[in-house]
Amino acid sequence: MKTITEQKPFEEIEETLGQATRVYLIGCGTCATTCHTGGKAEVLQMKDKLSEIGKEVTGWMVIPTACDDLTREALEENAQAVDRAEALLVMTCAFGVQTVARFTDKPVYPALNTLFIGKEDLPAHFSEICIQCGNCILGRTAGICPMTACPKGLVNGPCGGYRDGMCEVDPNRECAWIQIYNRLKEMNQLEKLSVVQPLKDYSKMAHPRAVSTRR
Ligand code: SF4
Ligand code: SF4
Repeated sequence: MKTITEQKPFEEIEETLGQATRVYLIGCGTCATTCHTGGKAEVLQMKDKLSEIGKEVTGWMVIPTACDDLTREALEENAQAVDRAEALLVMTCAFGVQTVARFTDKPVYPALNTLFIGKEDLPAHFSEICIQCGNCILGRTAGICPMTACPKGLVNGPCGGYRDGMCEVDPNRECAWIQIYNRLKEMNQLEKLSVVQPLKDYSKMAHPRAVSTRR
């Protein structure tokens, strides 16, 4: 699983930093590195860009997994440079940003937009794989998520709009339900298509979500 991110426009970052002239930079060695949005190379690029507009980068680090609680220790180990900064610019997903914010009193600003949970299907190209609907039906759909792969989120077969196996909403993509049909056929499980799925319980997607998994 990866949290897919994109870098915010630099103008937005500059505006967000406002009057803060001393900035500490934080990247993430996991998802943001894979996305080329907040790994070492991107952190160093950001450092140069900030210097060009007159900001002083008091220090930087790429935390192995920024959303982990070990982020607290990483901040403590770099306390001197962090303390000198007026703001922390965090080049991680929103989970990492919120983790950093929990462990510092400094203003914390995101440098990335958090987009979705996805996979890298081509080099530097990412696709969404799950919208976290809270009621997984992959067991009935041959491991292909219709909530995510079908733009209409249909759970009981295709709409009438596909053409030559391609989606009517995005003709560059194969219809999710054609993919599901073909895969179920390969697995001799076409009977699963005759089972009508209950209406999707969207209350499971109501925010903020919280759950206890303790038994
Ligand atoms: S059905 Fe799709 S959106 Fe729902 S949990 Fe499964 S993979 Fe995620
Ligand atoms: S063509 Fe297929 S993937 Fe596209 S909206 Fe209709 S059912 Fe969904």
